[in-house]
Amino acid sequence: MSNTFRSLYPDQRLLMGPGPSNVHPRVLAAMARPTVGHLDPWFSGFMEDLKELLRMAFRTRNSLTFPVSAPGSAGMETCFVNLVEPGDEVVMVVNGVFGNRMMENVVNAGGRPVAVEFEWGAPVDPQKVDDALKAHPDAKILAFVHAETSTGVRADAAALAEIGRRHDCLVVMDAVTSVGGIPVEVDAWGIDAVYTGTQKCLSCPPGLSPVSFSDRAAQAVRDRKTPVRSWFLDLNKVMAYWDGSGGRSYHHTAPVNALYALHEALVMLSEEGLENSWKRHADIHLELKAALEGLGLEFLVPEECRLPQLNAVRVPEGINEAAVRSHVLNRYSLEIGAGLGSLAGKIWRVGLMGQTAQRSSVALCLEAMKDALAAQGR
Ligand SMILES: *Cc1c(COP(=O)(O)O)cnc(C)c1O
Repeated sequence: MSNTFRSLYPDQRLLMGPGPSNVHPRVLAAMARPTVGHLDPWFSGFMEDLKELLRMAFRTRNSLTFPVSAPGSAGMETCFVNLVEPGDEVVMVVNGVFGNRMMENVVNAGGRPVAVEFEWGAPVDPQKVDDALKAHPDAKILAFVHAETSTGVRADAAALAEIGRRHDCLVVMDAVTSVGGIPVEVDAWGIDAVYTGTQKCLSCPPGLSPVSFSDRAAQAVRDRKTPVRSWFLDLNKVMAYWDGSGGRSYHHTAPVNALYALHEALVMLSEEGLENSWKRHADIHLELKAALEGLGLEFLVPEECRLPQLNAVRVPEGINEAAVRSHVLNRYSLEIGAGLGSLAGKIWRVGLMGQTAQRSSVALCLEAMKDALAAQGR
């Protein structure tokens, strides 16, 4: 029997969906550097550099800042499984897919979620969150998604965090799609626990979830009365490896080469400058907006809470949503995203994340969409 398996060479796509985004060759090359042992003394110094780069991206001085060895969903679970104890009340903003997932995490950790719901695509009204916290004075945590990738809505994180703190809650924020793309100010806003992902605006391959915990959140984990309901994500255990101060001991084998990629992506971000990266996302979004509106397309989300890095565009009457996505993928090697849940079939999600947020992406997207719409007689 002959061996028919061959090395893989996938097509080069322009990734303008909800993530992953395109990865720069420098980041891919970093992954090809020599694998070392995860307890190698050189690697130990590298881990401290990586933590410092993550503090730059999160805008924090939190010592408990490190990448969880699994994708964004694991960062989410790390926050809830460590901070929620059975019976704890958690007030949460639910305005899309990821808010719902947060709620499932709270339930699994034994907590009692109090959902403050908003229509998908509509602004998040901080007053309603304040009212919910007034009605639930024992709530321990306020949780929200900063950048709802399922709809393209930006929540006012500074306002929500201020409300949460005023009600004496720990504030948990999903920043998977926001870090690198729009301002995230973990310390200035007073966020206690935050997680992000590598494959959105950081333009790194998927598979890691940087997290950061404030001192009071770290204390809350140490003060737990019940064990953390996860072995792998238990911060008390993981820190024996990531906290270099007491010498590192084995918890799990770190994904060494994936961490090289994250390091390189963060070095590139620091070279560009975090604020320049935010501005680039904002500027390219305006170019995309002008291009798509020129085709007669409309945005789902009102301008004041629209994310530059995730553009939810309404599918016009009479247009087959899925056929447009196949057309641009097959003819232009361009990936755009579909709507989720109640928005399935009604919107496209056009991402401008990280390396993808460039003028050339807008030009190709415009040409491809024009052609795809014309193919359906528009
Ligand atoms: C992508 C995403 C996640 C989940 O990240 P994975 O890496 O897919 O596990 C969580 N929250 C938001 C807002 C996201 O966009």
